[in-house]
Amino acid sequence: MLTLPTTALTIIETLKNSAFTVYAVGGSVRDTIMGIPTRGWDFATSATPEQTLSLFPDSFYDNRFGTVGVKIYTEPRTPQSEPADIYEITTYRSEKEYRDFRHPDKVTWGRTIEEDLSRRDFTINAIASDGREIVDPYGGQKHLQEKLIQAVGDPQARFREDALRMMRAVRIATQLGFLISAATRDAIAGNADLLKNISAERIRDELMKLMAFEHAADGILLMRNTGILKVILPELDAAFAVGQKSPQRHHIYDVGTHSVMALKYCPSGDPVVRLATLLHDIGKVETAKTDPQGIVTFYNHEVNGARAAVKIAGRLKLTKKHTEKLVTLVRWHQFSVDERQTDSAIRRIIRRIGTENLEDMLALRTGDRLGGGAKETSWRLELFRNRLEEVQKQPFSVSDLKVNGHDVMKILEVAPGPVVGKVLGELFAEVENGKLSNERDALIRKIEEMRKIKSA
Ligand code: ATP
Ligand code: MG
Repeated sequence: MLTLPTTALTIIETLKNSAFTVYAVGGSVRDTIMGIPTRGWDFATSATPEQTLSLFPDSFYDNRFGTVGVKIYTEPRTPQSEPADIYEITTYRSEKEYRDFRHPDKVTWGRTIEEDLSRRDFTINAIASDGREIVDPYGGQKHLQEKLIQAVGDPQARFREDALRMMRAVRIATQLGFLISAATRDAIAGNADLLKNISAERIRDELMKLMAFEHAADGILLMRNTGILKVILPELDAAFAVGQKSPQRHHIYDVGTHSVMALKYCPSGDPVVRLATLLHDIGKVETAKTDPQGIVTFYNHEVNGARAAVKIAGRLKLTKKHTEKLVTLVRWHQFSVDERQTDSAIRRIIRRIGTENLEDMLALRTGDRLGGGAKETSWRLELFRNRLEEVQKQPFSVSDLKVNGHDVMKILEVAPGPVVGKVLGELFAEVENGKLSNERDALIRKIEEMRKIKSA
């Protein structure tokens, strides 16, 4: 027996009362057996989408997937309530039908839950429960205990039907900390090229899900070892062949390994920031040169890297916002973290990176440092973080000064003209290099001093 939430039991009861059969299936059943919290329950039923729609007032038809979504609300519900979750109800899939479901109108539905489960990807995702019995024809529960991802049926055939399943195998293995069984893994290694036929959007969604996991770095290595990386991120795959060992240099890893290590130690949970950390040195592949002394250089690699990031973001169809963040982080990751820099140098760094990206850039640099590319010690990065904060509290431009042209004209008794701008400029320079604080009293006093000098 499996304890389902009451919201799931209500869905099951409603369909059963109309003489349909229905089971909870997929990720949520898997998670619940493992004892981990879950949401977004999936159901498979003998009811057609139209029949399901008519039974649930809060449901809608997502034609793209032939799935009916049911909005789940928490009680008490008011007219302003937003759904707390969406459950998805799909009609049993037929053995004759190809799961990708491009033509839902022409579909022939399956008759039984067993037929439906045979169309699912992995044994641990092919467990069904209606709250009373568990249907598990492929040993999914056993594989959950063994922490094993194994294709339902012949892995070769299943990956040829839908190549995205190969990425799903790696993603779910990374998510759960599982191994992929030998035959399934070999089938991935033998068919990874088929991912070329899969749409950018589906690949992006799986990749971004994977990036968010704590052990994403292991997932990237697994993709490399199975040949998936070569298809979806060939730029990164090539980086494993670029060494960085030089006399008197700190680098011990090749560029690819360093990239993965940087991701491993990146403290951000944002998949875009983590992707940027993974790709920050991607420009080193094109720029690597060995000078006569045997020193390896990557001159301007961040410029090439930004260009590669634009290309990768375009290929993966990232949103404009995500693309901008990714490219900015890669483009400017080489800034020098030296707390002795002048305020205006620090201000220039802030302007380039953008205040909204500063914390993310520091996360990238922390990953970079801990991942073996150490450019600075941790105390240096902390001091730099303090400088960033300090400098941001100070004015960025003359218009941020706590006095303006009217104050200058009044105190100096001058008419509008170039003198006013010159005085404000002098004040700004002193505030910027820390000789004067940006407080109204202090600035007024300073202007008054100027008047004395002028009249003396
Ligand atoms: P999660 O929701 O935690 O990401 P999930 O296993 O629920 O993981 P979904 O993408 O929500 O993944 O898919 C729900 C279920 O549909 C899966 O558990 C699996 O049974 C089935 N499924 C999804 N994608 C495929 C596919 N490409 N081929 C075969 N079955 C699939
Ligand atoms: Mg799911």
